[in-house]
Amino acid sequence: MRVLISGASIAGPVTAYWLARHGVDVTVVEQAPALRKTGGHAVDLFRPAMDISEQMGVLPRVLQRATGTTRIAVHRPWASRPAHIDYLKLTGLISDRRVEIMRDDLSEIYYDAGRDDVDYRFGDRIAGIADDGTVTFEKAAPASFDVVVGADGLHSGVRRLVFGDEAVEHFLGGYLAVMSVPKSLARDGEMTGYYAPRRAALLYTADHLDDARAVFIFRPQRPLDYDHRDGPRQRGQLRAAFAGMSEEVGAWLAHLDRTPAFYFDAITQLEMHTWSRGRVTLVGDAGYCPGPAVGGSTSLAVYGAYVLANELVRARGDHAAAFAGYEHIMAPVVRDSRALARANAKTVIPTTRWGVAALVGVGRLISVLSARATQALARRSERGVRLYDTMPLPEYA
Ligand SMILES: Cc1cc2nc3c(=O)[nH]c(=O)nc-3n(C[C@H](O)[C@H](O)[C@H](O)COP(=O)(O)OP(=O)(O)OC[C@H]3O[C@@H](n4cnc5c(N)ncnc54)[C@H](O)[C@@H]3O)c2cc1C
Repeated sequence: MRVLISGASIAGPVTAYWLARHGVDVTVVEQAPALRKTGGHAVDLFRPAMDISEQMGVLPRVLQRATGTTRIAVHRPWASRPAHIDYLKLTGLISDRRVEIMRDDLSEIYYDAGRDDVDYRFGDRIAGIADDGTVTFEKAAPASFDVVVGADGLHSGVRRLVFGDEAVEHFLGGYLAVMSVPKSLARDGEMTGYYAPRRAALLYTADHLDDARAVFIFRPQRPLDYDHRDGPRQRGQLRAAFAGMSEEVGAWLAHLDRTPAFYFDAITQLEMHTWSRGRVTLVGDAGYCPGPAVGGSTSLAVYGAYVLANELVRARGDHAAAFAGYEHIMAPVVRDSRALARANAKTVIPTTRWGVAALVGVGRLISVLSARATQALARRSERGVRLYDTMPLPEYA
C-alpha cells in the first residue's frame, strides 16, 4: 500500500509513524520548507495521546520537553494585586495524565520517531488528486497512491480539493493570537495573565525556549471583518482589541511589528458529514478541529491519526473498509470534543466582570483545596472537562 500524507505537524507524522511501523510505503508532503521550529504555542496531551506516545516510545522525550508552568498570576483591572492560581492543581482537575508541550517540539518528536522509514518532502504541496489516486504536485512530478490523507490543518488544502465548501465552519465567538516576544519579559515557571471581560492576554516561556509566547484571546461584540491570510490587518485588529489593557500587555504588543512568529485566527469548529471520499480521507484539524485551544484538538489529532493508521493496516489495503472503521470510532469522540469546545469557548472568555471573577474564583478555590477534594470534584465531571481522560483507546495487534 502506498500512502501520501499532506501536512507534517502533529496528525501527519503520527499517521506516518504507525503506517510505516507496519511496513506501509509512506510519503509526507509539507508546504513549509523545513520542520517548523519557531513560533507555535503550548498544547495539551491528554491520557489517550500520552498512551499513544508511550507506545511510540517517545513519552520520555515528550516529558523532558514539558513547558514546566506551575502557576498563573492573574491580573484583573479592578484588583490591585494578582490572584495566584496553582496551574498544576487546576489542570489536575481536567486530567491525571497530561503534559503541556510546545507544538513545534511535539511535532519534531513525532517526526523523529518515523523519519527513517518515511519519505518526508518539504516545500511542496498537492495540486490535484484524481479518482484513480494519481496526484499532481506544485513542484514534484505526478505519482500514484492507494490512499491520500489530508493532515494539513484547519485550512486544509486536501479538504478544499476534494470536498470543496462542504465543511461547515462554526465560529465559536472568539479570536486567538500568538506571538513570540523576548524571553526577558516572562517569568520562569509562572504564566502571567491579564483578564478582563471579553479579553485575556497571557505570557509564558519554558526553560529550553529562547523566547516567550504571548497569547491573546478575545471575544468582540461583533465578528471581525477578517481574513486569515491578511497579517497586517490582523495585527491592527489585535492592537485595537487590547488597547489600554495594561502597561505590561502594551509592552508585549510593542513587539508586534518585529516578532519573528505571529499567528491569528478565529476560534472555529469544523463539521463534516464524512471525512472520507474515494481514496482520500482527513485526519486531525483538517477533518474535525473542535476549535483551537478549547477542545483538546492536539490529543484528538493524535488519537485520530493512531486510529486511522491502524484501521488501514487492519483492513489490509481495503481503504473503504478502513475509512468506515475509522469514522465509526471517531464519530462519538469528535462529537463529544465539539461539545466540550463550545462550553470551554464560553468559559475561557467571559463577557462580564462577574464571569471573570467567577473564573478566577474557581481557580483560586482549586488552588487551596486538597488533592483529594480536587479529585472528588473532578469525578463529578467525567463527561465534561475530563472527557479525554475517560476516552477509551482502541487496541490493535
Ligand atoms: C494559538 C493556538 C493555540 C492552541 N492551543 C492548544 C491547546 O492549548 N491545546 C491543544 O490541544 N491544542 C491547541 N491548539 C491546536 C493545535 O495546535 C492543533 O489542534 C494541532 O496542531 C492539530 O494538528 P494537525 O496536525 O491536525 O494540524 P496543524 O498543526 O495545523 O498542522 C497542519 C500542517 O499542514 C501543513 N499544511 C497546511 N496546508 C498545507 C498544504 N496545502 N500542503 C502541505 N502542507 C500543508 C502546515 O504547514 C502544518 O505543518 C492550538 C492552536 C493554536 C493555533
